[in-house]
Amino acid sequence: MTLFEKIIARQIPADIVFEDDQCLAFRDIAPQAPVHILIVPKKPLERLGAASQADCALLGRLLFSAAEIARLEKLVDGFRIVINNGSHGGETVPHLHVHLLGGRQLAWPPG
Ligand code: 5GP
Repeated sequence: MTLFEKIIARQIPADIVFEDDQCLAFRDIAPQAPVHILIVPKKPLERLGAASQADCALLGRLLFSAAEIARLEKLVDGFRIVINNGSHGGETVPHLHVHLLGGRQLAWPPG
């Protein structure tokens, strides 16, 4: 069971900010911006690169939820969505998660 599955199952605590039947969103434990929230599917899906055509609606739901949460967090000046995939992408937890970052000017390009 991955760390995020344990958070979904409430086996380990997290600061949950949003939940629906398919997604859970909680604050990152090591925030890289004033607002740093992870949005995860409740269904175990390892990473974006492991998604199938059957996951298209779920992927859309994750992104739409991120935008909804950005509104709730009042990120009126903008925000960034990041999905790290695999080792070169910087993925450390093998359960798909969308990073929502905001609350400060973000640099580009990322490192
Ligand atoms: P990745 O590097 O895989 O894209 O992102 C994993 C994220 O999970 C990191 O930003 C990391 O800070 C966060 N994280 C790791 N362990 C925990 C934890 O126990 N609780 C929470 N809320 N976030 C975690």
